[in-house]
Amino acid sequence: CGIVGYTGSRPVKDILIEGLKRLEYRGYDSAGIAVEGENGLDIVHCVGKVEGLAEKVADRDMPGTCGIGHTRWATHGRPSEENAHPHTSCDSRIAVVHNGIIENFAELRESLIAHGHVFTSDTDTEVLAHLIEDAYEGDLLHAVHSATQRVIGAYGLAAVCADEPGTVIATRKDSPIVIGKGEDGSYVASDIIALIDATRDVVILGDNQFAKLMPDSIEYYKEPGERFEPEVTRIDWDVDLAE
Ligand code: GLU
Repeated sequence: CGIVGYTGSRPVKDILIEGLKRLEYRGYDSAGIAVEGENGLDIVHCVGKVEGLAEKVADRDMPGTCGIGHTRWATHGRPSEENAHPHTSCDSRIAVVHNGIIENFAELRESLIAHGHVFTSDTDTEVLAHLIEDAYEGDLLHAVHSATQRVIGAYGLAAVCADEPGTVIATRKDSPIVIGKGEDGSYVASDIIALIDATRDVVILGDNQFAKLMPDSIEYYKEPGERFEPEVTRIDWDVDLAE
């Protein structure tokens, strides 16, 4: 339902919580975040309100400056902590948040299980984490691209990997993803409203396009090795965030 992500110079925890609150108006049943830490990704899920997630992480030591977050509107698998995003690879080094539906998830799941992958949720989304893990050879962009070649369906997604600190990869098909460069870092979200405080110059990602977010720069790709310069859209409408 809602995606936020950030890499930059500020601790990411509060940026993700704030971004998820901005997306609450869309409705959701659970929420979660993944934050990069010294020893891998720190992942917290919560059923119910973002406020509940905020309380859960309030006293948690999460100094990381790169991470992703999600509000989920369940389509496959009941609302629960196990089914909340982010979803991870077997080794928990890769985390993914996803909006949309992976239509061929059942057959992908079966073949991944046959290859030794262990699933911990009932979602369609979890196949993405395992497909990326399967394709991962030290380059997250490459692995995400490769995973998307195997899925049928609609997706807006963002992924991080503990082996590539400070990098977020985002892509989409039939589900919105917007990207912006703020003063302190790079932002991704499924809705402009989640990044409007950071920047008013946004890139509305197109289907099958990829963005590689780093703290000081953002690169756009049609596929790995094929970069392009995206069109930047200036947002000049005012947002009335009535409390
Ligand atoms: N199909 C995914 C799930 O059920 C994503 C739902 C959403 O867009 O929030 O977990």
